[in-house]
Amino acid sequence: MGVFEELLRRWDGEHVVVRHDSRSDAWMIVGVHSTRLGPAMGGTRLKTYGSPAEALEDALRLAAGMTRKLAVVGLPCGGGKAVLAVPELPRGDDRRRLFERYAELVDSLGGTFVTGPDVNTGEADMDVIGDRTPHVFCRSIANGGSGDPSVHTALGVFHGIRASLAHALGSDDPAGRTVLVQGAGSVGAKLTRLLADAGATVLVSDVDEGRARETGAAIVAPDAALEAKCDVYAPCALGATLSSESIPRLRCRIVAGGANNQLATPADAERLRAAGILYAPDYVINSGGALHGIGLERLGWDADRLEQEVAGIGGTLTSIFATADADGTSTNAAAERLAAERLAV
Ligand code: NAD
Repeated sequence: MGVFEELLRRWDGEHVVVRHDSRSDAWMIVGVHSTRLGPAMGGTRLKTYGSPAEALEDALRLAAGMTRKLAVVGLPCGGGKAVLAVPELPRGDDRRRLFERYAELVDSLGGTFVTGPDVNTGEADMDVIGDRTPHVFCRSIANGGSGDPSVHTALGVFHGIRASLAHALGSDDPAGRTVLVQGAGSVGAKLTRLLADAGATVLVSDVDEGRARETGAAIVAPDAALEAKCDVYAPCALGATLSSESIPRLRCRIVAGGANNQLATPADAERLRAAGILYAPDYVINSGGALHGIGLERLGWDADRLEQEVAGIGGTLTSIFATADADGTSTNAAAERLAAERLAV
């Protein structure tokens, strides 16, 4: 059996659309994992991959992750994801034309799949898609969209850190606590400001030292970040920083940050539990961006309602932590249980 066939047969989602765009040699892959709770929502990732099969595998895995994420945060949406696997990242007119052709594919799905930004895509690309289909969110504000979601991703992580502090250390007050923020990009820089304003001591680490310096926080060298003594380690850069190799080096009580796919393997959630470190599952704590795009553009929320829902990420984490304690499982297993319960209703 071919790799494509094997990946598709093994997948538990609803359907997959694969289009090869001969003009750019790009593969456009849309995975609609579940429409059980509503239309499948998920970002469009633009990336070069080793092979089309690798791109398909990524799209299928990410689409399933979106079903879980949106169910846990209680949104009336299903999960999906799209990948545009390109020979190299396109720019200028080539990029615009690629997104126009991709928009036609999204439109042909009739609203079963609604997309937004992801790795290497942003507001400008969503604007191009939005010229050809209404099934897109996070276009620029000038074009009627809700714009950059990172402000609410950071706010959600801030509320998640408070809930984690309350559970692990008995008080949700960040004042006097030390938080290491790894990655001072869109999310990390905003999170640093929220924490500093709340009286926390913030340590920032970024491979781009200029970005770290701009935050005004104390700087930790990237290769020393994992071993920094702190109450909270907040990964806001790369995925897979939590592994059998890194977990024994951590000197924190809590891992709570905005990066996607923080666990190198599912077993690492159990490793953190065994090490006495409270882990806020990444796809729950970083869901503020999804609440922003979907809430403002699809559910008619105003700014107050959005703030309220983003604050609710703290409450969701609190109940996940309580379930994990009661069941004697990892917080990741407890989050998965909550998603499964919502999907079963
Ligand atoms: P970004 O590209 O703006 O920032 C990432 C930062 O991490 C950059 O400053 C980069 O220099 C730094 N970095 C890269 N490698 C590093 C390393 N080894 N050590 C320290 N710093 C390093 O990205 P972002 O939008 O802030 O997103 C950060 C993470 O949060 C990503 O994993 C992203 O998938 C996730 N996320 C973002 C959003 C959002 O709204 N932007 C929503 C959900 C999840």
